[in-house]
Amino acid sequence: MTQQLKYRDPFHNISVDCENCFGLCCVALPYAKSADFAFDKDGGAPCRNLLSDYRCSIHKDLRSKGFKGCTVYECYGAGQKVSQITYQGLDWREHPEIAKEMFNVFPIMQQLHEMLRYLTEALSLNEAQPIHKELKRALEETENLTFENPKEILKLSVPLHRAKVSELLSKTSELVRGKVKKDKKQSKVPKGSDLIGAKLIGANLRGENLRGSLLIASDLRNADLRETDLLGADLRDADLSGANLAGSIFLTQAQVNSTNGDIQTKLPPNLTIPKHWLK
Ligand code: SF4
Repeated sequence: MTQQLKYRDPFHNISVDCENCFGLCCVALPYAKSADFAFDKDGGAPCRNLLSDYRCSIHKDLRSKGFKGCTVYECYGAGQKVSQITYQGLDWREHPEIAKEMFNVFPIMQQLHEMLRYLTEALSLNEAQPIHKELKRALEETENLTFENPKEILKLSVPLHRAKVSELLSKTSELVRGKVKKDKKQSKVPKGSDLIGAKLIGANLRGENLRGSLLIASDLRNADLRETDLLGADLRDADLSGANLAGSIFLTQAQVNSTNGDIQTKLPPNLTIPKHWLK
């Protein structure tokens, strides 16, 4: 039976709501056998672990069963938007004629919702007050795009829209980081964005711009990352034990899920400590 329209919020929802999604990330997206996925899967093919009710059969054991990659993916609410708004509750299993289009729409929607997530955070920051009007306009424009019909969504130039949003996020970052007084003890961040395996134990990185940096497996134990811009930083397997990330900006739950840390790690209030930190 086709799932009825349960999603009643007409406004954007940037939180994941798998209950109202037809398992889109588990079908639409491809993945390759690696440390993050136990086997290969093509885009458009349902994952073997996806149940008929769109729940994951190994949800509680994703990491131990070789699906760490699934724990660090976030759709920012795009799944339920596509399932319940764009396609009004039409399920790709019962309506195979819409499946291909739906799977193409989903990654575009994910990018739009990711922008909504960052813009929402920017608007919550007092420091960004001088550009709140522009941020609000960008949020509305982005939100309107998410309510377009599938054909229009597929025609969107996401990079063009992203460029406009990125500019505003950069301005926000400058406003937040600008208030941090740099001192002599400030750690020198090596030039360039390649910080793979970097030893940054106890480093004072407060107010730094680490946007897009490759911090894979870096040692950030006890580092000061307050008011640090971490947008898109690759933190896979970084050690954040004891680090202070309170007030860091544009850090997502997916990024945090990809790291190691402990109960001493301080995170921004909207993010939670992943279960694997407590083991
Ligand atoms: S392992 Fe589970 S969460 Fe990951 S893609 Fe498959 S069904 Fe989805």
